[in-house]
Amino acid sequence: RKLVNIAGINIDDLTMEQAVKKIYYFISSDKNHAIYTPNAEIMMDGIKDKKMFQVLNDADMLVADGAGVVLASKILGKAVRQKVSGVDLAKNLLEASAKKPIKFFLFGGKPGIAEKAHANIICDYPHAEVVGTHNGYFTEEDNQKIIEEINNSGAEVLFVCLGAPKQEMWIHENKDKLTVKACLGVGGTLDILAG
Ligand code: UDP
Repeated sequence: RKLVNIAGINIDDLTMEQAVKKIYYFISSDKNHAIYTPNAEIMMDGIKDKKMFQVLNDADMLVADGAGVVLASKILGKAVRQKVSGVDLAKNLLEASAKKPIKFFLFGGKPGIAEKAHANIICDYPHAEVVGTHNGYFTEEDNQKIIEEINNSGAEVLFVCLGAPKQEMWIHENKDKLTVKACLGVGGTLDILAG
């Protein structure tokens, strides 16, 4: 990994194209991977909060969402090549899956949002395969059932849209119970796709 260190947090220096390529490599591997797209606010959380620091540095891919993080990298004299936002990364994966199929699961948002996002994906990315959806409002008791649902769907890539830092914490806690190959913490992506 080519990393840029910002106050102890290791950001991957990747273009969008390289990030997508790396996720395909994750899909072809035999384990799950955590991918986060921290903005400046989450970076600050990571700098201030020990747990968040560990969660971010435990990621398999960390890309800078937002000009603030890219700017910080420049000020530190170790510029990250490009801003790679969560929603752009998600859209690029949906797009890429037309050529090289991916099974997606959409997790998060208010009830109905993931289904609406799915419906719009069918129109906008007709080749993308969504194998399941689940809203993001659940109890601790529901958690195991949600994991089973995701695993039974045969999904390879999971969009986790619970807002930050909940989504990063959830991925960190559940990564090893999931049979998907890549979990993306991508915030408001489902709201945007549900548009
Ligand atoms: N969300 C969720 N479960 C929660 C809290 C939030 O699914 O317990 C969803 C929310 O519906 C929205 C997304 O997470 O679709 C992003 O939430 P928010 O705007 O609060 O987060 P941010 O954009 O600040 O990361």
